[in-house]
Amino acid sequence: MAESTKYIFVTGGVSSSLGKGIIAASLAKLLQAEGYRTTIQKLDPYINVDPGTLNPYEHGECYVTDDGAETDLDLGHYERFLNVQTSQANNITTGRIYQSVIEKERRGEFLGKTVQVIPHITDEIKDSVQILGKSGDYDIVITEIGGTVGDIESLPYIEAVRQMRWDLGRHNVLVVHLTLIPFLSAAGELKTKPTQHSVKTLMESGVQADVLVCRTEHELPEDLRSKLALFCNVREEAVIQAIDASTIYDVPNLMLKQGLDKVVLKKLNLERSEPNLTRWNQFLERHKNPKGEVTIGLIGKYVELQDSYKSIQESFIHAGAENEVKVNVETIHSEHLTKENIAKKLGHLHGILVAPGFGERGIEGKIEAVRYVREHNIPFFGVCLGMQMAVIEYARNVLGLTGANSTEMDLSTPHPVIDLMESQKNITDKGGTMRLGAWDCVLKEGSLVKDIYKTDAIRERHRHRYEFNNNYKSQIEEAGMKATGFNPGTNLVEIIEIPDHNWFVGVQYHPEYKSTVANPHPLFVAFVKAALNYKKEKNSVSMAQN
Ligand code: GLN
Repeated sequence: MAESTKYIFVTGGVSSSLGKGIIAASLAKLLQAEGYRTTIQKLDPYINVDPGTLNPYEHGECYVTDDGAETDLDLGHYERFLNVQTSQANNITTGRIYQSVIEKERRGEFLGKTVQVIPHITDEIKDSVQILGKSGDYDIVITEIGGTVGDIESLPYIEAVRQMRWDLGRHNVLVVHLTLIPFLSAAGELKTKPTQHSVKTLMESGVQADVLVCRTEHELPEDLRSKLALFCNVREEAVIQAIDASTIYDVPNLMLKQGLDKVVLKKLNLERSEPNLTRWNQFLERHKNPKGEVTIGLIGKYVELQDSYKSIQESFIHAGAENEVKVNVETIHSEHLTKENIAKKLGHLHGILVAPGFGERGIEGKIEAVRYVREHNIPFFGVCLGMQMAVIEYARNVLGLTGANSTEMDLSTPHPVIDLMESQKNITDKGGTMRLGAWDCVLKEGSLVKDIYKTDAIRERHRHRYEFNNNYKSQIEEAGMKATGFNPGTNLVEIIEIPDHNWFVGVQYHPEYKSTVANPHPLFVAFVKAALNYKKEKNSVSMAQN
């Protein structure tokens, strides 16, 4: 335990997308494994109040916490690595900082003062960083600052770091700078100059980096480390190499080998012990030595950008390791699916997940996909919009309700099997107005999901507006699709399944947000297992036919 909370800032230089989130999460993992109560937060310098209104193409997936915060996808990495929950306090944007300062100004809290970036915005940033520290729940708070040092919009954050270091002292506030060491293949050389410049840019704002984490494609030779240390004014042991890894889950061990935890703890005057990474390494062992493989189709419309379905992809990694198989996730664009090509595009898959999403584009392809897997008894997992598509498909093709749809896609549908709740109908704002965060759900006796979760009641995270329309429930259930999970307060349907099918589950919530290395999500584990069984059955049928 630390006497007072220690703060570590992770800043980035030279280039964006160097993986600050993974470095921060890996450092946090090591510190946690050494017994320190550690959390991570992310400060994003953009003006959106939260990333909820951002297109997934712009910023990847929007991650949702239990308390209903719509956050940056890095929080997903934090939870997956640490297995501790994050909340609204773990993700702050410039928009939220300004919103809060402006609200205070309107309430007259600044007593007639001129409200300025310094000190009002910087004070608000410092308060936001220290909220977690002051809770008494953590020994160490790691704060990742989005963007790149030198960006105009990062300046107030760097100034807040400078002030916090001045307020609390160097042994309580540490700055890790993640930078890039490019390799010039024509010269056959690694180059340190961009790093020197970015450390200098940080210095111009009065902040000296304590530790350099250097992203590189090649090993950093000794002389280059010494050069970096000398010119960037850090000790040689504080030059940490972050070489490209085959999986993000290797990074904590790579950082351990490089001594990142050691140098950080020394600078913070904290004791070091050997980290206990047993559970982590068991997972890695299984992940890297699969005994078989399955191929699962991920059908969505944001497939061009891998990060759009980050949590789903990671959930498959956790579930694969649990089943000791490699899960090949084949992303399929729903807009390209038609009745004519569906068998060709989906016929080889061992399971299909229809992804979450918004708006009309690509939904007919998703419905076509559900029909194919339902009729061919291929394991199906529908997540949020994916569950809604399964209900629409069933209504149209099994119940014969022509034109059945969600009112999100077709306001004048004759059969709104998916619809807005009354209480949602008058809401016009888009930001933060969905059903968000963790909601209770009771599981039906005898259902597949109850068997999978092995409990009566669960809490899962939501992010959607539209709901299963209970006016159609009895018709749908009579035809064979069952509602097996309910919100106990509102009676909203949270889960549907088809008992006569091989494995057919649709959930209105997002199970992917709760899958972690230490706790792979039971539904993903069961779905991968079902895919594996399906593959075995299919192989034995084709062998028998030969
Ligand atoms: N667009 C759907 C809704 O708002 C589903 C959202 C989602 O998949 N997250 O209800």
